[in-house]
Amino acid sequence: MSNSNAFVPVPENEPILTYAPGSSERKKVLATYKKMYATSIDVPMFIGGKEVSTGNLASMRPPHEHQHTLGTYHLASKTDVNEAIKSALAAKKKWSAMPWEARASIFLKAADLIAGPYRAKINAATMLAQSKTIHQAEIDAACELIDFLRFNVAYMQEIYQNQPVSGPGMWNRLQYRPLEGFVYAISPFNFTAIAGNLCASAAMMGNVIIWKPSDHQIFSAQVVMDVFREAGVPDGVINMIMGDPEMITDEILASPDFAGVHYTGSTFVFKNIWKKIGNQIHQYKSYPRIVGETGGKDFIVAHPSAIAQQVATGIVRGAFEFQGQKCSAASRVYLPASIADAVLDGVAQQVATIKMGSPENFENFMTAVIHRAAFERLQNTIEKVKKDNEAEIIIGGECDDSVGYFVSPTVVRTTDPKYFTMTTELFGPLVTVYVYDDNKWHETLEMVDQTSEYALTGAVFSQDRYALQEAFDALENSAGNFYFNDKPTGAVVGQQPFGGGRGSGTNDKAGSMFNLLRWVSPRLIKETFVPPTNYHYPFLEKE
Ligand code: NAD
Repeated sequence: MSNSNAFVPVPENEPILTYAPGSSERKKVLATYKKMYATSIDVPMFIGGKEVSTGNLASMRPPHEHQHTLGTYHLASKTDVNEAIKSALAAKKKWSAMPWEARASIFLKAADLIAGPYRAKINAATMLAQSKTIHQAEIDAACELIDFLRFNVAYMQEIYQNQPVSGPGMWNRLQYRPLEGFVYAISPFNFTAIAGNLCASAAMMGNVIIWKPSDHQIFSAQVVMDVFREAGVPDGVINMIMGDPEMITDEILASPDFAGVHYTGSTFVFKNIWKKIGNQIHQYKSYPRIVGETGGKDFIVAHPSAIAQQVATGIVRGAFEFQGQKCSAASRVYLPASIADAVLDGVAQQVATIKMGSPENFENFMTAVIHRAAFERLQNTIEKVKKDNEAEIIIGGECDDSVGYFVSPTVVRTTDPKYFTMTTELFGPLVTVYVYDDNKWHETLEMVDQTSEYALTGAVFSQDRYALQEAFDALENSAGNFYFNDKPTGAVVGQQPFGGGRGSGTNDKAGSMFNLLRWVSPRLIKETFVPPTNYHYPFLEKE
């Protein structure tokens, strides 16, 4: 029986290991990488505590070596999807009745498992599945996922502590009920941490989950599932199914018990899911919660007072780390004519030193893009830019898919601020630069605000405080995560809650209390200690 007010450990960001030459973590992760590379595995679905194999298989391949097979995974049929719904609903009563401290313990244990015995495995799996360098894997699969779990447990406690005041003679309480029904988590390929968090954040609030990872992240998703199982997530609470996203989604959205979707991925897919939910609204028992963090066309805008080398570094790190496949990656840049050459020279000098290849070679800063469709999208874009008059490739532009899907860090310069590479999310190592007249700062800010349907991240570089303040006001709705004199990527849980508005999502701020609030439906309980025995109020008495 729980009869005390427990306090969860105060969360702190997980320290990022360096993987410097000679370090023990470097040896361990490389050995794990080699072992996983050489072993072929078969990933089943995980439904109601059981591993489910259908025999309908797809293969997993590292993007940097697309002829190599890491193994296979099993694709769901409609029956499997409905089995997952049944299993989730069957687990619901016991899970939501479990004391919150017990739920917290499970996810704190998951964090410690990742920080310790699973660290090398989850990082190596992310290096292989998503072609991340060890640094990119470490800040995602290890540190960010650990932070999500530890900070969210603390936010959960903070939510539960939030209670109304009570007038004389009564006690008002809020109970934070999980949603009625089940939550559907759909995750993207690019962050192992996001995949884990889409499930764990809603589950820790007492919800049951059906999770559909991206086909291009299954190899690391299975490690996340192993962690959940070892941490003690009970059977049926988080169910992992893979397969045709449209079929799975249609089956799930057809259930009257569908209570919410926790989505991260592209804007187009999210809008279609929203439309499908809207079209079926009459069949649901409750109004489903719709939480989606989606695409971006993230900007860097430099004021004439900016320091060229700082802007150049912001562009290189912001646009090219993880091959530009971060929703927050800088993909459109506005430079004043007075410093444009200095900035672009700085970018060219830094890019010239970038090595690209397999993440197994730790000297590589960049690796491959995720799959053939991404490679072709980028290659076609580069071909078009080469033909168009209003733009030119000034750095990079090489594509090579003979071994893996490699696209070199590419800078496009355009004379048209609405050129398609300034407005379309391309999700790769390609950034477009527009050079403006120094005396058009004000107009440029307006242009930054009005160029794209997205509003995820953005950065302003300036040494002039008035200019920063003007940008702060002019770009109020242009980005949900807004940076002064920094790159627009690299949000840290607990420090920079993440999410954007407009076409970039519902801005429920992953890694914050705001997100967790979407997974509860508060019930107010008012208790009157000595209830009245007559309806009469004093004003009704005769004078
Ligand atoms: P994606 O849209 O291709 O896929 C996302 C998920 O949706 C996957 O699980 C996929 O299988 C599923 N899906 C695809 N088609 C579907 C359909 N018709 N019905 C239902 N589900 C479907 O995105 P991706 O390539 O995996 O990830 C990149 C995208 O994610 C980019 O647009 C990026 O900006 C966005 N993203 C946003 C954030 C954020 O926090 N805003 C974070 C990471 C990624």
